[in-house]
Amino acid sequence: MTSHPAKKRVVLLGATGSIGENTLRVLRAHPDKLELVGVAAHRNAEKLFQICSEFGVCHAALADPSAAATVRPPAWVQLQTGADGLTALAALPGADIVLVAIVGTAGLAPALAALAAGKNLALASKEILVLAGQFVMAAARASGAKILPVDSEHNAVFQCLAGHATADVRRVTLTASGGAFRDWPADRLAHATPADALKHPNWAMGPKVTVDSATLANKGLELIEASWLFGLRPEQCHAVLHPQSIVHALVEFTDGSVLAQLCPPSMTFPIQHALLHPTRAPGTDAPLDLTRLQSLEFRPVDETRFPLLRLARAAMLAGGAAPAVFNAANEIAVAAFLAGRLPFLGIASVVEKTLEAVQPSAPTDLPAVLAADAEARRQASAQL
Ligand code: NDP
Repeated sequence: MTSHPAKKRVVLLGATGSIGENTLRVLRAHPDKLELVGVAAHRNAEKLFQICSEFGVCHAALADPSAAATVRPPAWVQLQTGADGLTALAALPGADIVLVAIVGTAGLAPALAALAAGKNLALASKEILVLAGQFVMAAARASGAKILPVDSEHNAVFQCLAGHATADVRRVTLTASGGAFRDWPADRLAHATPADALKHPNWAMGPKVTVDSATLANKGLELIEASWLFGLRPEQCHAVLHPQSIVHALVEFTDGSVLAQLCPPSMTFPIQHALLHPTRAPGTDAPLDLTRLQSLEFRPVDETRFPLLRLARAAMLAGGAAPAVFNAANEIAVAAFLAGRLPFLGIASVVEKTLEAVQPSAPTDLPAVLAADAEARRQASAQL
């Protein structure tokens, strides 16, 4: 008699977003290996309950309690609301892995709750590690839970590092597609609109990360995320422009060998890898067809046109609360840009001025980091 390994039970926070949708595609492709047991969103109750109906999910959470009043959940669903509801869902007894795909830093408390409960954390929300990398990594070490990167570049590094010692790594290079303004001259950027910024050449993603790609703040956040995930010094973390988004990251070892990970630009690849780790299964999307590839280009990133990458790198080097300040100011500025209240070039100005305004500190505990985050949000908002 063949024995069937138990299905992995998945909790998905941010189920109604772009990463959420891609995760549902992976779950549909592997019903024999993965079971969705909990889902959460901010306020899109209708879509959340549709997911509960399709996947037979019993546990759901909505961060905004008022959203729960708008639509009735299916009869079998236990619905929790508010920030505590999400945190409770992240620690759901019986769940094996929690995928956090909540935009911004609202996923920090649920991510810490999942780790404290010993759940493996599949992490898409890069802002969490930028805000509180020291404390998130410590929580994982304390409980022995694994952090499995979902961000495509970090998932690529994770795959390249398998079986290798961090001491043998010389440097890690993350690729950047260059976003919507990759080929725009500097003088046109002053007039870039939210609609222009949201036209990403290679990836279909949520609005915040798409704007971050257009400013290259996204790559800056990812360099900081990589330093925490893989225990790298800032000077070991690099970015290179790669317009095709086929090579996601490269790891150079001390002997000069370079390993790279390649796959088509679809988030189902890293999501599936993280959820099924350490096993593999046929991909959800079609694999790479090398005969159809025209070329793979790499070129340096222009930090003059994209100052947010330079500012992120400076914040990473400064350490302490500087990455948290960078992230908080960027969140405020991007929201203002998307709302039509700030010009595109204003995003970098707000972040730079906030980094200058907030006293540099080396927080020794999570409340101190959150205080720096709050102060940065106040300073950034005051500039709008
Ligand atoms: P989306 O904007 O598409 O989706 C965001 C999700 O988070 C939605 O489910 C939303 O719920 C939920 N959400 C928003 N605010 C809160 C809150 N306060 N509490 C609880 N849930 C909340 O974002 P993406 O899927 O694009 O990105 C999610 C994260 O993944 C980001 O950190 C991003 O940087 C990262 N990432 C995304 C990639 C991508 O391809 N999209 C690639 C790599 C990383 P509701 O629908 O109810 O508003």
